[in-house]
Amino acid sequence: MANLRFHAVTTASKKKPIMVEEPKERPSDYFGKYVFTRAKMYRYLPNKVYEQMLDVMDNGAPFDRSIADAVARGMRQWAVENGVTHYTHWFQPLTEGTAEKHDSFVELDSNGGMIEEFEGKLLVQQEPDASSFPSGGIRATFEARGYSAWDPTSPVFIMDDTLCIPTIFISYTGEALDYKAPLLRALAAVGKSATEVCKIFYPDVKKVSANLGWEQEYFLVDEDLYAARPDLVMTGRTLMGHDSAKNQQMDDHYFGTIPERVAQFMKELQIKALELGIPCKTRHNEVAPNQFEIAPIFEEMNLAIDHNMLLMSIMKRIARKHGFRCLLHEKPFAGINGSGKHNNWSLTTDTGILLHAPGKTPMDNLRFTVFIVETLMGVYKHNGLLKASIMSASNSHRLGANEAPPAIVSSFLGRQLSELLGALEKSDSKDVFNLAGKKAVKLDIPVIPELLMDNTDRNRTSPFAFTGNRFEFRAVGSEANCASSMIVLNTAVAEALTDFRRRVDALVEAGEEKYEAVVKVLREDIVACKPIHFDGNGYSEEWRQEAERRGLDTENSCPVVFDRYLDDDSVRMFESMNVMRRCELEARNEVKWETYTKKIQIEARVLGDLSLNHIIPTATKYQSELVELVENMYKIFEADECKKLTHRNKEIIREIAERIERIEAGVTTLVDNRKVANRLSSAREKAVAYHDTVVPIMEEIRTEIDSLELLISDELWTLPKYREMLFIK
Ligand code: ADP
Ligand code: MG
Repeated sequence: MANLRFHAVTTASKKKPIMVEEPKERPSDYFGKYVFTRAKMYRYLPNKVYEQMLDVMDNGAPFDRSIADAVARGMRQWAVENGVTHYTHWFQPLTEGTAEKHDSFVELDSNGGMIEEFEGKLLVQQEPDASSFPSGGIRATFEARGYSAWDPTSPVFIMDDTLCIPTIFISYTGEALDYKAPLLRALAAVGKSATEVCKIFYPDVKKVSANLGWEQEYFLVDEDLYAARPDLVMTGRTLMGHDSAKNQQMDDHYFGTIPERVAQFMKELQIKALELGIPCKTRHNEVAPNQFEIAPIFEEMNLAIDHNMLLMSIMKRIARKHGFRCLLHEKPFAGINGSGKHNNWSLTTDTGILLHAPGKTPMDNLRFTVFIVETLMGVYKHNGLLKASIMSASNSHRLGANEAPPAIVSSFLGRQLSELLGALEKSDSKDVFNLAGKKAVKLDIPVIPELLMDNTDRNRTSPFAFTGNRFEFRAVGSEANCASSMIVLNTAVAEALTDFRRRVDALVEAGEEKYEAVVKVLREDIVACKPIHFDGNGYSEEWRQEAERRGLDTENSCPVVFDRYLDDDSVRMFESMNVMRRCELEARNEVKWETYTKKIQIEARVLGDLSLNHIIPTATKYQSELVELVENMYKIFEADECKKLTHRNKEIIREIAERIERIEAGVTTLVDNRKVANRLSSAREKAVAYHDTVVPIMEEIRTEIDSLELLISDELWTLPKYREMLFIK
């Protein structure tokens, strides 16, 4: 075997599918098997305690500590019957990606007590040894310790032999150190403001909640090939690699059948997900080779996010059982599609009305229009912040870097909805809205078909698209915790709805008829939020220029985009909606900048190492072979003829020498620029320096390496190539 690469290719291509047995029970029987569902609560908790729990879960009633022991006892009994020996508080620290989360899980697990000593107080609150989780200095500034507190709205579940308790993670002075705490506050804010607006139309609405249906994209790469790519192992993406001659041009992967090894992986994933109560429904191939997608049916948002976090960690585990590595990185391979996680977002009332769907009556349609327009208002006002909420070192490859679409948040509405808003904007309110009569309110809103047809052939280039009865936030990264973007979206919409209701109330107070007031404010906002609406090609250069003219945020440097969190408008929004305070936002930004720097730092080091100990030695070896060949040619042929015959090889020898030289110089610059950046004390400035002076050098080095890959004998090349990683399955 010449090298690890060939060994890996041979092993990978011989692998057989690991067959997964279908469970004997039906999916509806094993759905939620390892979740402490309501049905199980009913069975394992005393009646009164069960009823109190329902009140906590359904009505947001405060959890009464006096029932904690009884709840813990019931949970413990159920867990022990399922072979559980340990419990752990499960939370979502500010680090992105499941690998870190998996570590933290283990760490907590080893500190977590045995199941025998599971009392109410241990269920409700704990002080995890979590000094290694990023806090952006919050714990140093306020209180040294942080604690985790049970989130009773998300059910506990069993993973292997451990009872997992979803919790928030906050400092002793109440600052959020995680994603879940601010998410719950944002959900409370949007729920409250949407309820207030709903009451204008439907007085019986008591509660509105946000839904989320995510679509998780991922790549699978054979484990042996993965192991032979140190860059994939260390950074989650390939830092080099020439395009495969064939990639996604033919779209044959998308429409093709699912390969058997992958099908078995998917089958096991689906079974495990259903057992954990994750309602996974669709699974299919994606556009890029070896890229796939899994999506559940949408759920209440807090639960949906826990489920996505859980799914990402089980995907990684199950992939390994099938001899794959699951890549959640947003851009593992240059030149082909990256992975995203579409976030389908909507609001529903406790009476079952989907607020972003048109209805049967004119009043339903007025309500529909209000919720569409106020959503657009929130997105428009905070478009830069929304972009910041999905930005990361890895997702920036999908947002504005090289081949990606420009990093601009805009919204696609489709022809029918655009026409409706246009008609409302232009018309005189007296013509369009005949508001006569107290009982029979008649609103001559242009007819809205119940099914908004043209949203089915949607615009795939839009980052925030209306898709018939919901909005789909497509720019979210595959590796991200959805909470990051959903905190911002829900808070922004909460602010817009609050503002809407306040202005309507003011007009009514001044003597205006209720629906006339609604229409008046609505028309103001239709005009105000116009710049966010764009149905054209979001990937085009003309759009970037147009977006700039419209005043939308077009910044694409990741560390600079994070600044949006600290804009006055953003701080005001978070504070007024009770979601986060300035000090929390500042601390979280420190974490974002530090994480960015660390990621680029690791990539730069790995690239430097690989250049020096894989690429250059291989290139030199091939070069010496050619040199020897040329020398030998002179032994056989006359000088004149030989000159002609060796011309091409001499050119290659020269090109290799030049490229090696540029790689060496690049690596030296990379080290020097890092040294300069590392001396900066501000986390922001450091991240900006890494972005501006390290990333571009990495790209230059990559270009040289990718050209060498084409030049050098395939036999000598040590790193698995794109065609191997992408097509062997
Ligand atoms: P696509 O055509 O974009 O692949 P699907 O129709 O399969 O999308 O749905 C994608 C996700 O959107 C699923 O999780 C689905 O449950 C969810 N979804 C559907 N309707 C809504 C809604 N009103 N609110 C939130 N999510 C929804
Ligand atoms: Mg979708």
